[in-house]
Amino acid sequence: MSEPGGRRDAPSPVEGPVWAVGVPPLGLTALAGTANADACVVGLGGSGLSCIGELRRLGASVVGIDAASVGGGAAGRNGGFLLAGIAAFHHDAADIHGRERAARAWRLTLAELERIAAETPDAVRRTGTLRIAVDDEELADCEAQLAAMTRDGLPVERYEGWEGRGLLFPRDGSFQPLLRCRQLAMRAIADGVQLFERTPALAIEPGMVTTPNGTVRAPVVIIAVDGGLERVVPALAGRVRTVRLQMIGTAPADDVHYERPVYSRYGLDYWQQLSDGRIALGGFRDVGGDTEWTHDARPSAEVQAAIERCLRERVRTTAPITHRWAALVSYTADGLPVVEEVQRGVWATGAYNGTGNVVGALCGRAVAQLAVSGRTELLL
Ligand SMILES: Cc1cc2nc3c(=O)[nH]c(=O)nc-3n(C[C@H](O)[C@H](O)[C@H](O)COP(=O)(O)OP(=O)(O)OC[C@H]3O[C@@H](n4cnc5c(N)ncnc54)[C@H](O)[C@@H]3O)c2cc1C
Repeated sequence: MSEPGGRRDAPSPVEGPVWAVGVPPLGLTALAGTANADACVVGLGGSGLSCIGELRRLGASVVGIDAASVGGGAAGRNGGFLLAGIAAFHHDAADIHGRERAARAWRLTLAELERIAAETPDAVRRTGTLRIAVDDEELADCEAQLAAMTRDGLPVERYEGWEGRGLLFPRDGSFQPLLRCRQLAMRAIADGVQLFERTPALAIEPGMVTTPNGTVRAPVVIIAVDGGLERVVPALAGRVRTVRLQMIGTAPADDVHYERPVYSRYGLDYWQQLSDGRIALGGFRDVGGDTEWTHDARPSAEVQAAIERCLRERVRTTAPITHRWAALVSYTADGLPVVEEVQRGVWATGAYNGTGNVVGALCGRAVAQLAVSGRTELLL
């Protein structure tokens, strides 16, 4: 993919997330032989690592494995928005799930966002986020969201600024998702957790997880996988569907200054400016149509071109593109995540419908509590 507008001297973009700049891989070994623990966590993204932290808090010994690397999936390749609430906007969530449940979900996720900020403060910025309308119809939808949130006592303000018109969510924030994953993994290792990379679970059964060169024996197994969940747990195939989301990153941009992350077109498109000036921009899944419902996590020309147009015309920077990437997440028909026991002693969490940074951490902790004690106050 070429750079329009005379930027030919810019080096070819790297295929990988902008978040990897300055965050070296952990380079953990693969499992060889047998490992024993109270619990085995499959998937070392933000959800699996939050789950591990909660399991340790509850006194369980843990082995964690990842088919690729810590934060190598969507957890280290996303837009970096920390949003309170579930995937549906609050007024829609209240219509679908009931007002009380939607408001409870908002409060639980806001508390989780605050926990994330306290746990990894140098990876988090609490600037608030903006929802900016692209047209009058979306502006009317912002007004409906404002009315429903205000009615339920949730933090929101009407917004008008140089970015456009819409809503400001003052308690939201953003983070460096890969840095947080790495920090949580290093803390877990220091706490005695055995973590293995390049260790796919080939077979998962009660009490045992089989990998290419080893076995984990654990009475509790927790699968914390978002994109591709229905492949790891085939029983979920009818309920969970995997989709590809794509992004680009730029060199530090000195021609724009975004104080807060912005999302637009009902959340389809999103961008933020990082503290070093780089822009991370993603979205336009709809441009790819049905081809985006795939397990292929490589960027596609069509969606990347649409993101690039947005960078130049909407975000309005000329900064060269340095990174292009994609990753997988999964969706459910009702917009709620999966958190359940899929076989005796085998639990699954995932399918955050595109907004799993906060919801995934919450669900990871909820499933840890359920697996260990049979109870949790954290269910959405
Ligand atoms: C481009 C993009 C932008 C996004 N932007 C945002 C955003 O701004 N805000 C937000 O809240 N959400 C966003 N999301 C969604 C969010 O990134 C995810 O919901 C969240 O990161 C999921 O984290 P996770 O730990 O649950 O799962 P994953 O990141 O999917 O991690 C699962 C891990 O499991 C491993 N794994 C898979 N199968 C196996 C197996 N068989 N054996 C062992 N390991 C296995 C994978 O290698 C992976 O590392 C975005 C997603 C994408 C792709």
